[in-house]
Amino acid sequence: MALEVWQQALKESLTSVAQLADLFDFDAQPLAAVEDKYPLRITPYYLNLIEKVGDPIWKQCVPDLRELAADGLADPLGEDSLSPVPAVIHRYPDRAIFLVSGSCAGYCRFCTRKRKVGCPGMVMSFRDLRDGIDYIAATPGIRDVILSGGDPLVLPDAVLEDLLARVHQIPHVEIIRIGTRVPVTLPERISEHFCTMLKKFHPLYLNTHFNHPRELTESAAQACLRLADAGIVLGNQTVLLRGVNDQPQIISALFRGLLKMRVRPYYLHHMDLAQGTAHFRTSVETGLKIMASLRGHVSGLALPYYVIDLPGGRGKVPLLPQDVMKIGDSLAIRTASGDIVEYPDLPSE
Ligand SMILES: *Cc1c(COP(=O)(O)O)cnc(C)c1O
Ligand code: SF4
Repeated sequence: MALEVWQQALKESLTSVAQLADLFDFDAQPLAAVEDKYPLRITPYYLNLIEKVGDPIWKQCVPDLRELAADGLADPLGEDSLSPVPAVIHRYPDRAIFLVSGSCAGYCRFCTRKRKVGCPGMVMSFRDLRDGIDYIAATPGIRDVILSGGDPLVLPDAVLEDLLARVHQIPHVEIIRIGTRVPVTLPERISEHFCTMLKKFHPLYLNTHFNHPRELTESAAQACLRLADAGIVLGNQTVLLRGVNDQPQIISALFRGLLKMRVRPYYLHHMDLAQGTAHFRTSVETGLKIMASLRGHVSGLALPYYVIDLPGGRGKVPLLPQDVMKIGDSLAIRTASGDIVEYPDLPSE
């Protein structure tokens, strides 16, 4: 069967440091060990967004020697212990993550599942997928199923449609979410035809993953508009990355740009403790300062929750700048411009 345009693009992706070294004229040899450990894939579209070596696009997709540092945790969120069957992560009673794909259109160097994505052990077999669906069907508490991976959108339309249909017909599943970075790295995959197929599975939510304003291209905007026009509610999960987006002006430009593309910022993730990603970590203080700087200066719609995902499967916790300075009969509350205002409160009960 002929490949679709996006499948052809995926095939033409850059997958070795040697190819990259040819293009940008550097010595590939030192990075061979990184490439052996963690796969590399950069779509032609995303490669084109690189303007120069070391820029924010480069840092997200090009292997770095610091990935070999032996600190951090292999399974930072304790996900393996929350897997009743290989394709499901079930941490919260009403929601489950369904890992439907082991690969992605591009491999992000900061990925929390980098020990797995793109590696042979992550490939979900037909049997794993069937066990996943059986588990969800047999667990009436699950109202919200999040298709993730890897990236669900690298699956062929027919496979994805079949999985969506099977999940959609489970009576207790009320909503389906898709987590995907494809609008960022392979926007041509989001065709009109594809969006028409997705429409059958409403209520459908899709969270994508833009990290830098330079990723908000015309093609990416068109992909998001096609999804939004199909009635899919779009959210975005950004990861706070040192040297990529850890500055208030970058984050506010990103979040304002997303709203223009009809994508609502949902989470700003604090980098977790995944092994091989320490060089991307910022302090929590940096994240809180960025959140505080946004308040009062950007639309409330552009304000996501800043969340930290605690190790060992303890879950996500939103972190807020501390604005209640004093609690008691009267509160002292800090405004967006930094003034302290007294506010009468009810006596505690
Ligand atoms: C983040 C996460 C979810 C979804 O959480 P929401 O806050 O509802 O977006 C579900 N399961 C796991 C294991 C998660 O890490
Ligand atoms: S697309 Fe998502 S799952 Fe895939 S490498 Fe990037 S962060 Fe990881």
